[in-house]
Amino acid sequence: MSGTGIFGGSFDPVHEGHRKLALEAIGQLGLDRLIVMPTATSPFKIGRKHTSGADRLAMCKLAFDGHPEIETSDLELKRGGVSFTYLTVKELARPGQKLYLLTGADAFLSVQRWKYAPLIAQDVFFVGVSRSDHEQDELKKHADYLQALGFSVQLMPFAPLPISSTEIRRRLKLGLSTEGLLLPPVRDYIFSHGLYGSGKP
Ligand code: ATP
Ligand code: MG
Repeated sequence: MSGTGIFGGSFDPVHEGHRKLALEAIGQLGLDRLIVMPTATSPFKIGRKHTSGADRLAMCKLAFDGHPEIETSDLELKRGGVSFTYLTVKELARPGQKLYLLTGADAFLSVQRWKYAPLIAQDVFFVGVSRSDHEQDELKKHADYLQALGFSVQLMPFAPLPISSTEIRRRLKLGLSTEGLLLPPVRDYIFSHGLYGSGKP
């Protein structure tokens, strides 16, 4: 099997949960290429202040270093503005080859409402990542609904790490440990650049 996946997020900062998901998607979906795509501004996070795109991109590169099948793309950061998926898919789609778009449960449950969703659906498999049996049942129902709309969908069961960038930012600001949450080179980058209030007494 082969295929290209897209894993989008704000990655502010990228953490071990993201890494685990990326590696598992490669295995479960049989991908030979996974594009990690930091968003400029997510349509769902408009108004939220982010760390610079350059820093988020640099941290993603450090986190996925040593995995030749994973590349970090600056496509959405370079485009700027709100990162609409239909624009990204239009740029990356190749005739006759669908892209695998990784979506967490919240995103999967609303893909049909995304801007130009039917256009996106022409070029992608929407991969719904479910994190529990309960979520799996909910996503399965929605997958049936999306299939009836003509969308290609796939579900991917996944045991997530209980980590979020929000919690990591909070811990860094308070000077609490991020052991096991961040890859060491990413942690070093954060401290050497004084990001998230790290390094302050
Ligand atoms: P924030 O707390 O700022 O929202 P986040 O940790 O949720 O950050 P995002 O950049 O928003 O990270 O997420 C990018 C993608 O990674 C999303 O699809 C999200 O579902 C997934 N993801 C986030 N945290 C985890 C985790 N711990 N395990 C697996 N996947 C995760
Ligand atoms: Mg999030």
